[in-house]
Amino acid sequence: MVEAVQKAYSALRERFKGDLVAPGHSSYEDARAIWNGMVAKKPGLIARCADVGDVQSAVRIASAAGVLTAVRCGGHSLAGFSTCDDGLVIDLSRLRQVTVDADARRAKFAGGCLLGSIDNATQRAGLVFPSGVVSHTGASGLVLGGGTGWLTRRLGLSCDNVEGFILVTADGSVVRCNSHENPDLFWALRGGGGNFGVVTEFEVRLHPLTSVTLAQGLTCEADARRLLEFWRDFMAGAPIDLKWNIDLRLGPNNEEVPGELRGRTVASSSLVWTGSSEAAANYLRPALSRCHRDSVSSRVVSFVHLQTMADSCFPHGQRYYTKSGYFAYLDDGTIDHLLAAMVSLPSAGTQIELAYLGGAASQVHAGETAFGDRSAPFMMNLLATWSEPSADDVHISWIRGLFDKLRPAMKPGVYVNFMSGDEQDRVHEAYRERWDRMVAVKTKYDPNNFFRLNQNVPPRHSQHTADQR
Ligand SMILES: Cc1cc2nc3c(=O)[nH]c(=O)nc-3n(C[C@H](O)[C@H](O)[C@H](O)COP(=O)(O)OP(=O)(O)OC[C@H]3O[C@@H](n4cnc5c(N)ncnc54)[C@H](O)[C@@H]3O)c2cc1C
Repeated sequence: MVEAVQKAYSALRERFKGDLVAPGHSSYEDARAIWNGMVAKKPGLIARCADVGDVQSAVRIASAAGVLTAVRCGGHSLAGFSTCDDGLVIDLSRLRQVTVDADARRAKFAGGCLLGSIDNATQRAGLVFPSGVVSHTGASGLVLGGGTGWLTRRLGLSCDNVEGFILVTADGSVVRCNSHENPDLFWALRGGGGNFGVVTEFEVRLHPLTSVTLAQGLTCEADARRLLEFWRDFMAGAPIDLKWNIDLRLGPNNEEVPGELRGRTVASSSLVWTGSSEAAANYLRPALSRCHRDSVSSRVVSFVHLQTMADSCFPHGQRYYTKSGYFAYLDDGTIDHLLAAMVSLPSAGTQIELAYLGGAASQVHAGETAFGDRSAPFMMNLLATWSEPSADDVHISWIRGLFDKLRPAMKPGVYVNFMSGDEQDRVHEAYRERWDRMVAVKTKYDPNNFFRLNQNVPPRHSQHTADQR
């Protein structure tokens, strides 16, 4: 253990109520693992906090000892920001309380919650908090970066539904922020990621919803162009109750898939309708008519089913690499590139994810939250998944090559939660006209850049840059 961490360990041992897991501890190997197997770092100490006091102690002691510190909720950072070599990990996984006030349609949840814990608690009251599409994702990282999912068009981004935060800032203080208390921080935390402190509590708005209509279908490669053109034009006029995502990937090799599509390149459509089931067909039928007849399904499912149906598609410990961007319009040249890429997918787990945002998310003014501009409705995420380190180069080069071809047609901007660890040069692009305001808030609350393992916005005159990891 390096000297600074050793010092922090000794100081923490005297007052810490949670678990201190150092190399050699029986649970160290499990505790150090994060979701992306590409990022296998070895922290000097993992501090699993039992309460807010533990978070304060960890921040104060690590800051005083000059220990590089990562903060972890669900550990799903694609970039791997929730771990580090030789430093400290503040692990919030013991802080998973959710309290629901059904009458006020509000919930408070702790900084270590996974999406599934929130969905389960809010559904018991027939309510939802709009979040992401995989229930083992951490809520803190997702909400602080923005948060998109099946309900984004109907209810906005996750961060649009936050009423207030409680956080531990870099000097160890507990600070509350909302629209009237510390509004600068409230603005910055809605899209600004982990830059400003450790959020220990979120207070959020909830909405009534217990089930949706889910329709799915596969389109063969030969018909994919017509599908993408239809999707592009249809979604521009679709009601906010409809969310339609398309993944370009290899068809699953199972009996539910028509034989001629198994293991072949397909466009996989998932449509979620949150309006009345009577009206669903008007919007689902035109989409499903562009899918292979024997691959189509449509049924009413519970909200919890919707939120967990993709869980097993994104297992922990695989190797993942991603690049992402927005398009104002999906022009023909972009569709050409996407179709050409479909036939060279490097593995069964690799996919091009396309989502159409708009709706309630686009009604929030760009200056209202740090998340910013919502005017480009097409969001694309290139995601490679593989298991063998020997295949790293093939997958990473494939994603980078395709991204470079698509980049000229993209609208500048990137969703920070879909960035890889080698994209620190795109953080400015993510915040652009909001950059100076972000720097001002960062300088006020974290002048020494203690919280720098994130899509980092450095404070003015900091000794520590994001490169000093
Ligand atoms: C399988 C999978 C599915 C996903 N699906 C979606 C989706 O549907 N929609 C979407 O918008 N995004 C999605 N994402 C992206 C996701 O939003 C980010 O990966 C997010 O960072 C995950 O949050 P986490 O808490 O698990 O991350 P962690 O790895 O724990 O942390 C990520 C970042 O947040 C910071 N952080 C974590 N907790 C706190 C806290 N309490 N206070 C302050 N900072 C904190 C960390 O320091 C780090 O910088 C998905 C990711 C994965 C891996």
